[in-house]
Amino acid sequence: MVVEQLRANGISDERVLAVMGELPREEFVPEPARPYAYEDRALSIGHGQTISQPFVVAAMTQALEPDAEGDALEVGTGSGYQAAVLGRLFRHVVTIEREPALGERAAAVLSRLGFANVEVVLGDGREGWPEGAPYEAVLVAAAGTSVPPALAGQLGEDGRLVMPLEYGPEDQELRLFWKREGKLESRLLFPVRFVPLV
Ligand code: SAH
Repeated sequence: MVVEQLRANGISDERVLAVMGELPREEFVPEPARPYAYEDRALSIGHGQTISQPFVVAAMTQALEPDAEGDALEVGTGSGYQAAVLGRLFRHVVTIEREPALGERAAAVLSRLGFANVEVVLGDGREGWPEGAPYEAVLVAAAGTSVPPALAGQLGEDGRLVMPLEYGPEDQELRLFWKREGKLESRLLFPVRFVPLV
């Protein structure tokens, strides 16, 4: 069901569609939200946080041009669903969460589902995770005013980074960045609504 909606909304990367068609999103959402797990919308996961809308997960993943030989970093584990999608498409994934209860729940779900290549780390994602750098892809799942310098630094040459940038309290857009000769270039993807990077 999700896959048909994603395709209709312009997601064309067959690997992303295959992974999202097969991953049980209901495992990543709390009991009361499960009846809605396959609707194309964000859902509450507690602690004032949400699991992103499937379309946004798909679009961010597709923009990163998944590479089965590369490593990815995610900031904002939340439910762990986006990390699971990345885990199927990259060699190794480090995902950082600042709220311990969310990080622990996501780690438990990922381990129960057998994601041995996804590592959940508790801490401030704005610092990245230098031990795993350089990354082929960095996904920031919370909105800030600019790309944290540590994340830009840990992105490898030719690497891709997606992040929602805020221009005002009600105004965010998803941007795709890429590194050429050590410098970031970027382009606008589409308007979004994410929780703040804190
Ligand atoms: N990717 C998630 C959705 C993320 S919601 C999913 O698939 O479900 C954004 C998450 O970012 C929240 O869980 C929030 O606690 C976390 N967050 C916000 N600021 C952060 C920071 N500085 N470091 C790490 N995590 C952060």
